[in-house]
Amino acid sequence: PIYSATGLDVWTMMNQVAASVGAVNLGQGFMSYPPKDFIRQAAQDALVENTHNQYAPPRGRPGLLEQLAVRFSERLGRDIDSGNEVSVHAGANEALLSVFTAFLEHGQDHEVILMEPAFDQYTPNIAMAGGVPVYVPLRIRDGCDAATRNVSSDDWRLNMAELEAAITPKTRIIVLNTPHNPVGKVFTRDELALIGAVAERHNLLIVADEVYEHLTFGRDHVSIATLPRMWERTVTVGSAGKLFGVTGWRVGWAVGPAALIRPTLAAHTRIVFTSNTPLQEGVASALRQAAHNGFFAIQREEYLRRRDRLMAIFADIGLPCVVPDGAYYLLVNASAVRARIPTDYAFPDFITERGANFKLVYFFIKEFGVSGIPPTEFYSDAHKDLANDYIRFAFCKTEEGLEAAAERLQTLK
Ligand code: GLN
Repeated sequence: PIYSATGLDVWTMMNQVAASVGAVNLGQGFMSYPPKDFIRQAAQDALVENTHNQYAPPRGRPGLLEQLAVRFSERLGRDIDSGNEVSVHAGANEALLSVFTAFLEHGQDHEVILMEPAFDQYTPNIAMAGGVPVYVPLRIRDGCDAATRNVSSDDWRLNMAELEAAITPKTRIIVLNTPHNPVGKVFTRDELALIGAVAERHNLLIVADEVYEHLTFGRDHVSIATLPRMWERTVTVGSAGKLFGVTGWRVGWAVGPAALIRPTLAAHTRIVFTSNTPLQEGVASALRQAAHNGFFAIQREEYLRRRDRLMAIFADIGLPCVVPDGAYYLLVNASAVRARIPTDYAFPDFITERGANFKLVYFFIKEFGVSGIPPTEFYSDAHKDLANDYIRFAFCKTEEGLEAAAERLQTLK
């Protein structure tokens, strides 16, 4: 089944495995530190106001829509109309579900192109909206020896001929995730232009999942919506959880032309009606303050330090990684660890049935006490083998957490 009513999602499963052995949890991408004071205060202040406790308009609280219009007018280089070109959602997840629901039709087998590894929520969201995911894998450039040395996230490339070959008369949408989870790839303007040209040639919608737009390291994030003629066919999705390190707030948004946001908003209204009011106000206030207090630059520096520390930890124990140019994940090539799994190692059934990569990650968590996520969960069956050797670790974690991981991993030397 594309989504199972009984099967555990990978996040819950791996959190449970991690907790069962008291592992340092570098799995799920949530922050293990509190948000900055001004962000927490913004939420507290919003709850004090008596006017922030009832339904928000489905599109979102006017103050937040306005702040989003300000931010995206600057980032997309055009005047964004807060009343027509923005909608607020219950997290980026629900924004994505709403876009898929708006533009895919049950019974029509409408196809959506996903680039693998593809965040695990896309596939069930597309299926629930009646669509059919079609997968095109990013592939590591020829000549990279990823099992023995670091490669760049930029070495993971989309083969344009493969993309073109995946498109059929039923294709409706291309999902583009940049900066990319879990590779950390920040698509270049040239790559985006090629993808955009395909979308234009086949008259496809682009759903740009840019929830990590504020986290790039030495490379500029480019929104595909800023490329010529792309605004009209692009819905850009973002997330307060990612932007401010508050993944539990569940406030996200969609930005695009009125013709695309209107149906997205209609779907949103029927899925959750509106998203929570006080935290929308909290995000509006945080955005207002962050525009002037230097928060985004400080945050980026903090993530860069964490990224470099985690890369150094794996370099020290001789496991190569994919150097991320954005987001907060590190793909580590653990083929050397896989070779050390005893043939008679006891794996529980719920791991064995998910394949070789889950076994590797389970073994790693149990033996070394540091947890990660099996990236094959981000792949269709046909392409899982591309990720069997990898473990994804998140570096949105405290310094103490990273150092505790470093200490435990010494046993791997
Ligand atoms: N986006 C986060 C990650 O990839 C959390 C995903 C989730 O829990 N659904 O780790």
